[in-house]
Order: sequence, then C-alpha cells, then structure tokens
Amino acid sequence: METKVITMEDREPVDLTRLKEAGEILRRGGLVAFPTETVYGLGGNALDKEASQRIYAAKGRPSDNPLIVHIAEWEELSPLVQEVPELAKRLASLYWPGPMTLIFKKRGCIPYATSGGLDTVAIRMPSDPIARALIRSAGVPVAAPSANTSGRPSPTSAQHVLEDLRGAIDLVIDGGEVAVGLESTIVDLTGDVPTLLRPGAVTAEMLRRAIGTLALDPALTRPLAEGVHPKAPGMKYRHYAPRAEMTLVEGEREQVIQTINRLAADAIAAGKKVGVIATDENRGAYRFGDIKWIGDRANEAKIAHNLFSVLRAFDADGVDLIYSESIPEHDLGYAIMNRMNKAAGHRHIKAEKTE
Ligand code: AMP
Ligand code: MG
Repeated sequence: METKVITMEDREPVDLTRLKEAGEILRRGGLVAFPTETVYGLGGNALDKEASQRIYAAKGRPSDNPLIVHIAEWEELSPLVQEVPELAKRLASLYWPGPMTLIFKKRGCIPYATSGGLDTVAIRMPSDPIARALIRSAGVPVAAPSANTSGRPSPTSAQHVLEDLRGAIDLVIDGGEVAVGLESTIVDLTGDVPTLLRPGAVTAEMLRRAIGTLALDPALTRPLAEGVHPKAPGMKYRHYAPRAEMTLVEGEREQVIQTINRLAADAIAAGKKVGVIATDENRGAYRFGDIKWIGDRANEAKIAHNLFSVLRAFDADGVDLIYSESIPEHDLGYAIMNRMNKAAGHRHIKAEKTE
C-alpha cells in the first residue's frame, strides 16, 4: 500500500477541505495517522471492529492492549459509555480538550476489538485543532493508539510515523512536531477510588487538586512482578524502548557526571557504542560517547517534548548502551521518569564518588 502524506502546518484556521479525504478514509475503515498535542495517533473508526483489527496489525500491537477512543465534542461521550460519573464531569470541565484520558464502562456500540476485550473503554478529547477537525470530518469516534510500531518510542513527528508505518497505512497528516511529546494521562473512574494508570501532562498534583483522592496503580512505580496485571494492559509491555540497553543514573549532580563518564569510558574501551542523555546545565561536563542534550532542568516541558525523539535518534545512530541522567519525580517529572524507567527496563544505578 502506498502511504499518502499531506502537510498541514497551519492550525489557525485548519483547512477543512484538505481533511475531507482523510475523513472519508476513516469512514470506510481505513487508517490515518494524525497529530495530537500528546503524540501522533494512528486513527481508525472506533465503532468498526475491522478498522481496530487493522490498527493492531499495522502496529504489530498485542490485541489485548486496548485503544483510546477520541472524540471532538462533549455530546459524543454519552452514546459510548454506560454512565458519566460526577468526577468525570469535573475532570473533563477542567482538562478537556487536552492530554487526559478517562476510563468508563463501555456500551455495546464499542466493539471488544477496540476495548481489547474489556468491558471498559478509554476516551479522550484531544485539543490539537487538526485532530479535532479530523474527528469531526470523519463523523465517527476515532480509535487512536500512538502511531508507532509496537515497542518503539512514541512518534512526536510525522517523520517518526513514516519511519515505522510507511506502506502499512493509508494516510499521514503531517502537522509538524507535537506540543507535549508524552502520551496522555490515564485516569480510571470505574472503581471505588479514582486511579492514575499512566502519568502525563495533566499531572497527579493537578488531578488531586481537582478531585481529592487519587490512587496510583502499583505498576507505575516499580517493575511488575511475575503474574501481576496492571489496570492499563498496555503498561505491561516494554514500551517506549530504544534498541540500546539504557541505564538511569541517580544521585547528586557531580557524582552523576563522574559516574556516567566512568561507565561510558569503560564501555567504549570494551568496544561498545555509547550514548549519553544529558540536561543542558551539564553541557561541557561529559567527555565520552554520543552525547544528546534533552533540555533544561528548569523547563521540564522541553524535556518531555524531546525525550522520544532523542531515543529514536540513538536508534538511528546504532548505539549499544545509553546512560541517562534522572530528574526529580514530581509534577511533569513524574511522567518523564515513568517513560524513562520503561525505556530503561527499570535499570537504574546510584551514582558513586570515585575520588
Ligand atoms: P496508546 O494508545 O498507545 O497511548 O496506549 C493506550 C493505553 O491506554 C494503553 O496503556 C492501554 O492499556 C490503556 N487503556 C486503553 N483502554 C483501557 C481500558 N479500558 N482500561 C485500562 N487501560 C486502558
Ligand atoms: Mg503507544
């Protein structure tokens, strides 16, 4: 299949005539990758079981990993779900449209192929004007997981989508680089206590301010024990992963720098190709390996924005090992470290003084 690309940098206003074809492709069961404010999504008609199956096939995604359903208007929610809890109304009034996904009890119109066999469904109203215009143009809710090959870092540009999916999908809408760069926050409201299943740009602190109690799914903070199932089935897969073996180095600044320099030098001496993920404050401090700057510690939004493209760049460079600095795990840093931990397969070490 030839994958068509249309370029649409302008969002104010979105050129609706150029989205007509994309909307038609979605209505007849085809696949369209499009920008959202989080990452690029791979869209298909959420009500069409065969379209969802095509999404799994194109991504090579395990079919028990449910898809997030995207809507453009509040009125589109109630036909898809059994009830809209008060807390969902409160969160949606604050953070929709935006980078937050809510889990509801699904209605029969959502095929099990879309919900990964679950009786619940994940729903989000994205804020990117291209995403919203596309959903309106399709006239159906749009199931859209990240538009990457399963297991690779999520795509933050159309170029990343094409690297993974060229030839496997009908169309890519190139809307430039995304704003946030991390996948949406996921909150489950179907149990007794609202539970954070995946941290994102709508932070745990923001959610707690809005709704009070918020439990954290145990899968967020530590590697999963054998036989334990996270509530978001996707969290069990080694996600966001570069091909290289990545290690996070934690500790005080000087000691982190020393430790990474020592580990990198040793690995290079042993014939390995080494990458280093460093924050801008430490420019000039690293001496070995392929050093990539991820952004300023004072600007975590920038670090979130750069993370996946830095991981992809290391794949392209063919490094064997990556050593990365860590950042504090609060606010957006919690979401960033969640992705870094997954990319590193939860491999981290404490920096040590050498002299
Ligand atoms: P992606 O679309 O690639 O951002 O991945 C979607 C994430 O949402 C995965 O981690 C899924 O496991 C999670 N998810 C989707 N639907 C549900 C659901 N009904 N219950 C819990 N998690 C879900
Ligand atoms: Mg994904």
